[in-house]
Amino acid sequence: MLHTNCFRVSSSIRAARCLMPNRHTAPKAVTCFHKKDTEHRETNFGGLIYSTNTVFLSRSCFTSQVKLNCWKCKKLLDRTPSFFCDSCKSIQPPEEGTSYFKIMDCDYTFTLDTPKLHTRYLQLQRTLHPDNFGQKSVKEQEYSESQSALVSKAYKTLLKPLSRGLYMLKLEGMHLKESTDSVAESQFLLELMEVNEALDEAQTPEEVNKIAQDTKGKLADLTEQIDAALHEGELDTAKELLTQMKYYANIEEKVKAKLSDFM
Ligand SMILES: [Zn+2]
Repeated sequence: MLHTNCFRVSSSIRAARCLMPNRHTAPKAVTCFHKKDTEHRETNFGGLIYSTNTVFLSRSCFTSQVKLNCWKCKKLLDRTPSFFCDSCKSIQPPEEGTSYFKIMDCDYTFTLDTPKLHTRYLQLQRTLHPDNFGQKSVKEQEYSESQSALVSKAYKTLLKPLSRGLYMLKLEGMHLKESTDSVAESQFLLELMEVNEALDEAQTPEEVNKIAQDTKGKLADLTEQIDAALHEGELDTAKELLTQMKYYANIEEKVKAKLSDFM
C-alpha cells in the first residue's frame, strides 16, 4: 500500500536524515527526554508519515521502525514490537534494535513505574514462555525462547536504577570509565572512603543501620539528581552521578552483608 500523498517535505536536514532509517541499526536518537528535541520532533514530524511497502515512519525519527510482515501468514504486523501476529496469532521473532523501554512498554524515563514494569513482565512471560510452545513447530519454540530471554534481560536491566541509568547512557553512546581524576570525583572518593571506614568500624547493628539509612538517603538523592540531569540532557553529569550510584549500591550490599553477620 502506497501513501505517497502523506509525505510532506521538510527542509530540515535532520528530518531528512531521519527519513532514511537503517533497517539493521537500533534507532540512534532516543533522546526524548530532551524538551528541545521533543518540540523539534513535533514541529517537524507531527503527523508525518512516509509509507511504502516496507518503510513506515510516524511521530518521530527515534521511533522510526521498518514495518515487518508476519513470517507465517505474511500479513503486515501492526505493533512494534509485535510478539504475536494479529491475524494468524503466531509468535514472531525478536525485532532487532528494539529498545528495552519499548519491549516493556515503559516511558523512556529514569524514574520509571516499576510496578507497571513488573506487571508487564509477568504478562509477557505468561504468553511467551517456552512451556507454552511444546506442541508448536521448532521455529516457534526457538522464537519463544529468544523472546522470553529478551524480555527477562529487558526487565532485569530496567528494574534497578543503576542498570537502567547505565542502559540509558549506553543508548546515548556513553560508557562509564572505571578510573576517575576530576576534583569533584576525588572529593567523592574521599567521602566514599569515610563511609567504608565507618562501616568497617561499626560494632553494633544500630551503627550499621545508621549507615544503611544514610546510604538509602544518598541513593534516593542520586536518583533524583540523575533523573533531573537526564531530563535536561546533561549526559556528563548523569554519567558522573551514575558512577557515584554504582559505588553507593556497592556500599548497600556491604551493609546488608554486615547486618546478616549480626543475625
Ligand atoms: Zn501471521
